[in-house]
Amino acid sequence: MPPPLNDADDTARAGCMLVPGPVIVGAGPSGLAVAACLKINSVSSLVLERGSCLASLWQDRTYDRLKLHLPKHFCQLPFLDFPPNFPTYPTRDQFVAYVESYARHFSIGPRFGQTVARAEFDPAARLWRVQSQDCLYLTRFLVVASGENAEPVIPEIAGLDAFAGPVIHTCAYKSGLGFRGQRVLVLGCGNSGMEVSLDLCRYNAIPHMVVRNSVHILPRDVFGISTFALAMALLKWLPLRLVDKLLLVMATLVLGQTTGFGLPRPKIGPIGLKNATGKTPVLDVGAFALIKSGKIKVMKSVREITKRGAKFMDGQEKEFDSIILATGYKSNVASWLKGSDFFTEEGMPKASFPNGWRGNDGLYVAGFTRQGILGTSSDALKIAADIAHKLRLTKGCKSSTRKSRY
Ligand SMILES: Cc1cc2nc3c(=O)[nH]c(=O)nc-3n(C[C@H](O)[C@H](O)[C@H](O)COP(=O)(O)OP(=O)(O)OC[C@H]3O[C@@H](n4cnc5c(N)ncnc54)[C@H](O)[C@@H]3O)c2cc1C
Repeated sequence: MPPPLNDADDTARAGCMLVPGPVIVGAGPSGLAVAACLKINSVSSLVLERGSCLASLWQDRTYDRLKLHLPKHFCQLPFLDFPPNFPTYPTRDQFVAYVESYARHFSIGPRFGQTVARAEFDPAARLWRVQSQDCLYLTRFLVVASGENAEPVIPEIAGLDAFAGPVIHTCAYKSGLGFRGQRVLVLGCGNSGMEVSLDLCRYNAIPHMVVRNSVHILPRDVFGISTFALAMALLKWLPLRLVDKLLLVMATLVLGQTTGFGLPRPKIGPIGLKNATGKTPVLDVGAFALIKSGKIKVMKSVREITKRGAKFMDGQEKEFDSIILATGYKSNVASWLKGSDFFTEEGMPKASFPNGWRGNDGLYVAGFTRQGILGTSSDALKIAADIAHKLRLTKGCKSSTRKSRY
């Protein structure tokens, strides 16, 4: 349902709209969190979303069995908690219901079907020109909330085009229902690769998961306590390297060694690696047990995809019915934000968390912290406070200029 038309919509239809408040690109958790925090500060905003629903990553591009990887209290948005009856790890559908109730609670009605193709600061007008396919939005404040996971990463692999069976990215995978009894090559061993392989097993498919390098697998919970929560608590008291060592000892106690199963651990510990590269450790929800029992087969790097299967670096050759690319996602900011040197070519802020939320000329960035929704909340609160402060200063200037005329 499109949002109700407001006064400015007639102008928008004509192709140009001067937006009195900030323009937020993206109606995912980050965009909605910024809009809500602005509202708390009495600032109205306009959210532009390319999809036709809120949190389109979660609604359209995730698999059915997905649950939050982190406990709910690390994933709630500012000023509205999850319902108390939700489990510690809400399901995808519960998370979507929460996001929808969040938007309703703060009366946020994004303009759907608006893909921002270009945004650029106009120094003469001191405004951002934000161009969608059918409207030019002019605004003093631009908030980039288009997500670290805006586009699927499709790797270049020799022979992939020649494969005779279906090839899909995990963003198009819903469940193993259509893969019953199939031999499936899963490329990638992050959280998605592991969970898709686990799901395939539940439908009696035979997943072969490719592990190109190394990977940290941690139990999602240790004796009923979330490993992530434990790590966060320990980090308050202990140095990161020691926390990493403790996590690895715990992981070995709970899961056993992983290296012998074709899953060597990186040299840097899980949190150190996450901070240095953004690579998230796998929080295991059962896939490792299936690797140990041989139901999920672990394969070394692929040398080449053939018409009927794949040749591997270790010389093996196998036939497959389908290929699933669990190769992750990337930002799309570099393709549409022009004239700003705030982002890298990969579309991530050059300054790392907690400093990557504010650029020059009224540019703000939410949800690019590599810290999940926890980082989103921190960004949203700071962005809203900063914009509200700037607007108050402008109002103060205007009223003092007016007063001085009399
Ligand atoms: C499988 C999976 C599981 C995850 N689990 C967790 C978890 O448990 N906990 C956690 O904290 N994080 C998790 N994450 C990370 C998760 O992506 C984020 O925390 C959350 O979705 C980030 O919200 P966001 O609004 O920043 O980005 P997104 O949710 O990606 O929302 C961005 C929105 O911007 C829109 N958009 C993009 N480009 C444009 C454009 N040019 N014009 C207009 N609109 C545009 C997109 O359509 C999208 O709706 C998970 C990610 C994945 C992929």
